[in-house]
Amino acid sequence: MTYSFPLFKLNFDQSEETAILNVLHSKWISTGPKCEEFEGKFADALNAKYAVALDNCTNALHLSLVTLGIGDGDQVLVPSLSFVATVNAVKYVGAQPVFCDIESLENPVIDPYEIERKITPKTKAVIVMHYAGFPCNMRSIKKIADSNNIAVIEDSCHAPLSLYQDKALGTYGSMGCFSFFSNKNISTGEGGMIVTNDEDLYKKLKLLRSHGMTSMSYQRASGHAVDYDVIELGYNYRMDDLRASLGIVQLSKLPQDLQRRKIVRSLYINSLGNLSSIVIPFKSYSERCSNYIFPIVLINGCENKRNYLREYLSEKGIQTSVHYPAIHKFKVYNSPSISQPITEYYSANTLTLPMYGSLNESDIEYISSSVIEGVNNL
Ligand SMILES: *Cc1c(COP(=O)(O)O)cnc(C)c1O
Repeated sequence: MTYSFPLFKLNFDQSEETAILNVLHSKWISTGPKCEEFEGKFADALNAKYAVALDNCTNALHLSLVTLGIGDGDQVLVPSLSFVATVNAVKYVGAQPVFCDIESLENPVIDPYEIERKITPKTKAVIVMHYAGFPCNMRSIKKIADSNNIAVIEDSCHAPLSLYQDKALGTYGSMGCFSFFSNKNISTGEGGMIVTNDEDLYKKLKLLRSHGMTSMSYQRASGHAVDYDVIELGYNYRMDDLRASLGIVQLSKLPQDLQRRKIVRSLYINSLGNLSSIVIPFKSYSERCSNYIFPIVLINGCENKRNYLREYLSEKGIQTSVHYPAIHKFKVYNSPSISQPITEYYSANTLTLPMYGSLNESDIEYISSSVIEGVNNL
């Protein structure tokens, strides 16, 4: 069915088309000058030293673990409330993911106390995920990680340009990983980025992104290199210039888009903020935020009630989603010994409402009053 209010809408216009055509006409469509330009602009926007453009964020997460030398026998702490790629990446390198619960329904991000409690001599890293674009408690997490000598990787897929204590999310850990999948804040179809402030990690990421080769095709084609060696076992995780050109345009539009999303969020909060039967996570967060999604959570709810509400909204033309089913409940990860009570409650009782810049006041009024009607019917 087609919804009057989809969950997400692309904010493409003529400028994306022009950008793509320019790359087509340039005759250089793989990794080249547009990727380099996108990397430079992305790093600048986050006030990070380095950025490496990649084909998607799943591979960004994998590459960040490889770059840190994490592998067999190591443990990596992960949230269960995330997209499955966050945890799959740990398995790719042969390490063991160890699930950590979220803080609360109000702050559905990895709990620093859980991190502290689950550290063992085998723990090498923690992957945190800034849910909906709102920050994990990076101050506590950095302190715990530093004193236990474990690395922090930020899955920042939801959080481009989000700030925490005036500093960009993705720049707190040793590496920050971003996605430009179609429905993310920056859309290039598929795409990813790693930012880092560490020159050694940056050099290694560049090497491993392209087969471990010491030079790339563009450098050879443009006469900057004639030869290459392969000095590490690398991958083909490159972004191409077609996607990078979309990324450059999308990034330039992002600050304005985030302004719009902020308005959409405050309209939602005005209409739904006093509803005693739901929680709006991070309700009073005031720093700049990407507002990637707008989730709500039922209080004293259950999965059936949540599903009923989703069905009710669907009949009103409103698309909703669930961010996310708990990863530790998926068949490939499920084990009776894993218990994550807050995550389990959250996953069964959350739903995500439409969020994109072009929603206007009467749209939000319609969606919100439908939510109120649906909740009152529960
Ligand atoms: C989208 C997303 C990913 C995966 O990104 P891809 O670019 O699709 O590989 C990983 N983690 C989170 C939290 C995401 O939202």
